Amino acid sequence: MILSLAPEWAVHYKEFWETVKTRNLWFIRLRYLAVVLLVGYILTTHLLLGFRYTNEQFVILFGSSFFLLGYNLMFDKIWGKTEAMSGGFNVLHFSLLQMIQDLLTLFVIVYYTGGPESPVRMMFIFHMIIGSLILPGRVIYSLAILLILAFSGISFGEYFDLIAHQNVSGYKSEPLHNNFNFVILNTVIFAAIVLTSVFIANGIAVQLYKLEQQLLTSFDKLKKSEEEKEKYIMAVVHELKTPLTAVMSYLNIVTGKILGEIPHEPLERLERAQIRTREAIDMINDVLHVSRMRLFGQMNLQILNMHELVESSVDKFFDTAIAKGVELNYINDLSRETTLEGDPFLLTLVFTNLISNGIKYTPHSGAVIVRAYRISKEIRVEVIDSGIGIPKQDIDKIFEDFYRASNIKGKGYEGAGIGLSIVKQIVETHNGRIQLESPSGFGDQKHPGTKFTVIFPLKNF
Ligand code: ADP
Repeated sequence: MILSLAPEWAVHYKEFWETVKTRNLWFIRLRYLAVVLLVGYILTTHLLLGFRYTNEQFVILFGSSFFLLGYNLMFDKIWGKTEAMSGGFNVLHFSLLQMIQDLLTLFVIVYYTGGPESPVRMMFIFHMIIGSLILPGRVIYSLAILLILAFSGISFGEYFDLIAHQNVSGYKSEPLHNNFNFVILNTVIFAAIVLTSVFIANGIAVQLYKLEQQLLTSFDKLKKSEEEKEKYIMAVVHELKTPLTAVMSYLNIVTGKILGEIPHEPLERLERAQIRTREAIDMINDVLHVSRMRLFGQMNLQILNMHELVESSVDKFFDTAIAKGVELNYINDLSRETTLEGDPFLLTLVFTNLISNGIKYTPHSGAVIVRAYRISKEIRVEVIDSGIGIPKQDIDKIFEDFYRASNIKGKGYEGAGIGLSIVKQIVETHNGRIQLESPSGFGDQKHPGTKFTVIFPLKNF
């Protein structure tokens, strides 16, 4: 069994694992930079600053650069395959593996560039800070202790002549590795900096993870309470149906003359009331239909003739377009046999919403084109207009509930910003997708236009 490295609070916290995976990639990218910096360091210190390295030092240092590059290429390959979850060999094990490998390589480099006197020893601190951002406290503190012990080992080993000192001349006037005051101070300060950096960096990282976790929990709670609210509204709307249906049946009895003849004038008024009541019941049914799809993914699936469905959706808008002075063009290249399994009410809602928006956001003498066609195994319906367009900065958010673009503020366009979010949800519940482009390629500079493309796969047919 592989040792679980994750802190308890993070085991079921998906974002923690994703972040570790991303940070592992930083590690890999930084390491390519480290290879360049290492080669640059050897060359500049030697050629420009006059440091003198022995042949053995050159071989080991250039060899370490190649070694670093080699294992980084391997890590780069492994990265994509590491699992961003607890259990098995996961991203945390991968971080630890990288960290240990880097520390060992850095040890060789530090030793061959002067051991306790090496200017490169500061890189250990940098490493420990990066490690603290990824690895859990107990692991990084254990590594910090091992590092301090190893560094003290080299320093005192060289001081007591137990290991050979790799001298680099050219940057200090006298040797320091055999100066007791230097060795002791250098080791103590090194240990203090390592431990303090780990303490601060690890503390901040854990706090950030926890804050992020709290934010996500609050977001989940908010989403749940939104759902509860929608369920409550659904229940209220449903309750409204009962009295309205009763009114409708009384009206049916009276207008059906079951209780006897009634004069023409009152009959006409009652029939109008009957039409209005029917409309109210239909509206309630529509709201309930959409809510059931949004909340529970429920649909009334049927095999639909898509040519006819698009046509009947467009038909509803010719009068509106004429009244607004907008040209409505319609091209339907779908064969009359093209079918799709879907909910007729919901799919009609998709097209009517997009066409009605197209007309609403296109000024007088502009145009809207609706084009339906089939391309390989997909049905595509485009609604293109030469209207006000959607600014770039709003495009990513436009399908969110209640979001309205910045360019319509204060211009008197009515609406609540909920239509597109419902459209997207319906399309996706039908395994489709929706694309948005603005400018549409059909407008001009003042009216860049918008193009929506709804795509449904035909895989079942
Ligand atoms: P609304 O009721 O505000 O029209 P929608 O959800 O249908 O709500 O649309 C969200 C926002 O997207 C609109 O407020 C508008 O800013 C923008 N929008 C939608 N369709 C178009 C379009 N065809 N042209 C320009 N802007 C559009």
